[in-house]
Amino acid sequence: MDAESFRDSTDKELNVFLDAIEAEWGFRPPVEVVVETGIRISADFNIVGFAHKGRRFDVRDSNAHRRTPRAVARAIAQEIVTHRNTCADCGTGTPPLWERLAIKRYPARYRSYGGAAFSRPPDAAERLIFPGQSRKFEKLLALEAALPKIDDSSQRWMD
Ligand SMILES: [Zn+2]
Repeated sequence: MDAESFRDSTDKELNVFLDAIEAEWGFRPPVEVVVETGIRISADFNIVGFAHKGRRFDVRDSNAHRRTPRAVARAIAQEIVTHRNTCADCGTGTPPLWERLAIKRYPARYRSYGGAAFSRPPDAAERLIFPGQSRKFEKLLALEAALPKIDDSSQRWMD
């Protein structure tokens, strides 16, 4: 596929529509068709025998400064790890890190959630692949561990 000729053809086709717009509106909006070529990258993966199609990433000149190979690789790994948490076929039942974090941060909003799985600390892979979320979650776990435990016997004065 040739970007130049695709742009020229799009221009030509667009002009038909712009003619109609101009006839209706009385003026022709200036339109510039911009074609950017790029790289589309994706990764198919397999967890315990289940094949999955990974999401696609488009790398163009305009986003190549942040969509680096490392960033794309991390995003692919994040998708795989999160998938393993949530998939009905190959999932483990441990909530994804973002969900464990949200529940610790806003416990009132997630009252119905519970169980040890929601307090599972990030594993080594999660710490590498989700460094920011892992740090925040570990900090909250440490705060929680430092809280004084509620002791029922302290309620005795009410008797
Ligand atoms: Zn799966």
